[in-house]
Amino acid sequence: MEYDDYNEEDSFRNRLSTVTEDGKRNWVYALKPNGKFYNYRTVLAIFYLLVFFGIPFIKVNGMPFVLFNVLEGKFILFSKIFWPNDFYIFAIAMITFIIFIALFTVVYGRLFCGWVCPQTIFMEFVFRKIEWWIEGNPASQRLLDKGDWNFTKIWKKSLKHLIFLTISFLIANTFLSYILGIDRLVRIITEPLSEHLSLFLGLVGFTLTFYGVFAFVREIVCTTICPYGRLQGVLFDQDTMLVAYDYKRGEPRGRFKKNVQRDLGDCIDCYQCVNVCPTGIDIRNGTQLDCVGCTACMDACDFMMEKVGLPTGLIRYASENGIAKGEKLKFTPRIKAYSFILFVLSIVLFALLLSRKSIDVSISRVSGQLFQELPDNKLSNLFNAKIINKSKEEIPLQFKVENYKGEVKLIGTHALTLKKEDISTFTFFVILDRKEIKKRSNELKIGVYQNGKKIQTVESKFLGPFQ
Ligand code: SF4
Ligand code: SF4
Repeated sequence: MEYDDYNEEDSFRNRLSTVTEDGKRNWVYALKPNGKFYNYRTVLAIFYLLVFFGIPFIKVNGMPFVLFNVLEGKFILFSKIFWPNDFYIFAIAMITFIIFIALFTVVYGRLFCGWVCPQTIFMEFVFRKIEWWIEGNPASQRLLDKGDWNFTKIWKKSLKHLIFLTISFLIANTFLSYILGIDRLVRIITEPLSEHLSLFLGLVGFTLTFYGVFAFVREIVCTTICPYGRLQGVLFDQDTMLVAYDYKRGEPRGRFKKNVQRDLGDCIDCYQCVNVCPTGIDIRNGTQLDCVGCTACMDACDFMMEKVGLPTGLIRYASENGIAKGEKLKFTPRIKAYSFILFVLSIVLFALLLSRKSIDVSISRVSGQLFQELPDNKLSNLFNAKIINKSKEEIPLQFKVENYKGEVKLIGTHALTLKKEDISTFTFFVILDRKEIKKRSNELKIGVYQNGKKIQTVESKFLGPFQ
C-alpha cells in the first residue's frame, strides 16, 4: 500500500488488536457475554471440565481409561495398551487427524477454537469468570489497573492471582496424571519430595506455564502462538462458515434514534460486539485471523437488535459468499461431502482402535539353521516366537500346526504363559512327517490358541531337503 493510500479506517490491518500503536500490549477488558450461544457454550464447558478432570480417575479392569506416557513410550486409550509396534495405528490416526483438521476447518472455520479448544474453555469459562467475580466489569477492571496500589487493589489482585495459581496447579496435576497415571501422581504428592524431585519440578513448571498463559498471555495464544490458528489463513475460502458481520444489511452504520425514521443500515454502532470480544477485534472490519469464533459478538448483537426492534442475526454464522449474496448459511453439497468424509474417517479410526488385538505374535525360523532329520522319518525346523501381551492379565497360549499333520515342541518350558504387559520370547521345534515335505521351502501356518480358541494364525516357512 502506498503511504498516500493509507486510510485510518483500515489501520486495524496494520497491527494486532492486542498491540497498541507504540508497540505495547493492548490489554483486552472483555465484557461478559450474555445470550443463547453463551448459554450453550457454558453447558458444553461444564461437561468438558467434568470430563477433563474426571478421566484420570476412571479405570477399567484396573487400567487407566487414558494414559499418554510419552516418557516411557506407553499409551492407553479406552483402557487398551498401545505399544511401539502399534505405531501404525498412531500413524493412521495422525494422517486422519490432519485430514480431519484440514477438511473441518475448510468447512466450519474456527468452530473448534470457539467451542472446544481447552485454551478457550479455561480462559473464558474459568479464569475470566473469576476475574469478573473479583474485579468486576471491564470499566471497574480498568479503574483498578490504573489506580494506585491501595488496600482494595492489593487484596483483589492478590486473591485473583492466588486463585489463578491454585487452579493452574490443579490443571498441572491433572495434565501430569494423563502422562503418569493417577496412582503415580498420588505417590509424587504423598511421598517424600526427594524421591520424585524431577517430576515435582515438572509439576511446578507446568503450573507456572498454565498460570502465565491464563493470567498474562491469554488471547495472544490464539492470535499469535497457536499453529492451528496460524493455519486458518490458508484453509479458509469464500464458502467457509465463519462468525460474520452482514455488512450488506448493517451498513451504513449509525446511532439508533428513538422515534426517528431510520434511513441507515441496521448496525446501530453500539460497539457491544467489540466490547465482548475476547481478542479485542471489531468483527465489522471483516474476517480476521484474530477471530476465534467464540460467538460472543453474535449474542451481544442479537441482544441489541432485539432491544431496538430489528431482526437478529446481523452478526451470525455465515460464509463470505453467503453475506455477499444475502443468503443464510446453506448445507451445500461441498459441506455434505466433506462432512461425510470426516464421518467415515472417524469411523475407520474408531474401528481400528477397537479391533486392535491385545496379543501380538511374530514367529520366525531361527536364521542359519536348516532342517534336522529325526527318527521315524520326521523333519524338524527351529523357530523363535516373540509375543507381546498388551493386557493386564497372564495369558496361557498353545501353538498348533494348521496346514500339516505335525507337532510343536517347546524348548526349555512346558507351557507358553505370557506375563501381563510383557514381551515374551520362546523357542520351539516344528516337527513334520518327511513325506509331507515336497519342496525345499514350504508354507507353514501356525495357529495361536488361547483357552482352546484360535486367536491368530501366523505364517512362516518350513525348510526341507533339496529334492
Ligand atoms: S469477533 Fe466475535 S466471534 Fe470473533 S473472537 Fe471476537 S467476539 Fe468472538
Ligand atoms: S453489536 Fe451489532 S449493532 Fe452493535 S455495533 Fe456491533 S454489529 Fe453494530
